[in-house]
Amino acid sequence: MLPSATAPAAEPAVHAPLSAAGIAALNTRYAPLDFEARIHSLYQDFAVGDVLVTSSFAATSAYFLHIVSRLRPDQRIAFIDTGYHFPETLAYRQYLTERFGLQVFDVRAEEWKHQFTLDDRTYQRDPDYCCAINKVEPLDAIKPRYRVWVSSVMGWQTDNRAGMAIFEERRGILKFNPMIDVTREQRDAYIREHDLPFHPLVAQGYSSIGCSHCTVSGDGRSGRWQGKPKTECGLHL
Ligand code: SF4
Repeated sequence: MLPSATAPAAEPAVHAPLSAAGIAALNTRYAPLDFEARIHSLYQDFAVGDVLVTSSFAATSAYFLHIVSRLRPDQRIAFIDTGYHFPETLAYRQYLTERFGLQVFDVRAEEWKHQFTLDDRTYQRDPDYCCAINKVEPLDAIKPRYRVWVSSVMGWQTDNRAGMAIFEERRGILKFNPMIDVTREQRDAYIREHDLPFHPLVAQGYSSIGCSHCTVSGDGRSGRWQGKPKTECGLHL
């Protein structure tokens, strides 16, 4: 059984959206900082209970979670459990959870909706719809409980991500992308310097790791939704 906490059940608080000028001011202040300093500043600007942190427990997660958990051990981590993860991803999640002392809670689609995608093989027929059901809708449902969502996207991963700011309003929440200008080399150097483990599939040639139905080995994100024009699951669009 994987270590797991239950998502908070309290009624969502209503948070007023930050103005465009407010977001621009945050970007100006955070731009000169490095990733670690940005995370440090975040917890001076926002209460930990207002911060939503998601992790896919994939290739970049050891770097991201090591820094977040060192600075805020009480930060809860949301794992979007699509039901289609590799066993290696679930094992990696368990390993990092124990090693870093993380408090991880699962975010999932309603069981009948997930079952529909399984019976329908929606991941083959219409992967955008499958991602909408298993990833986007479940995360959208918990966003109103938080003021800011921290993601670990990096600009070099896709053209879409290359255009992202450090702070931006995205799908109804203030999104914080503190790693947006971190290079792949910087990430890998940190992981090596701190003797952190890569996801087990990295050693088998996987650079980007998502659901098992939609991921093969390959450089960059070339192994995601191979043969299809899709490059993003929809969470970051
Ligand atoms: S990545 Fe594939 S299996 Fe996972 S939710 Fe998206 S379409 Fe479905």
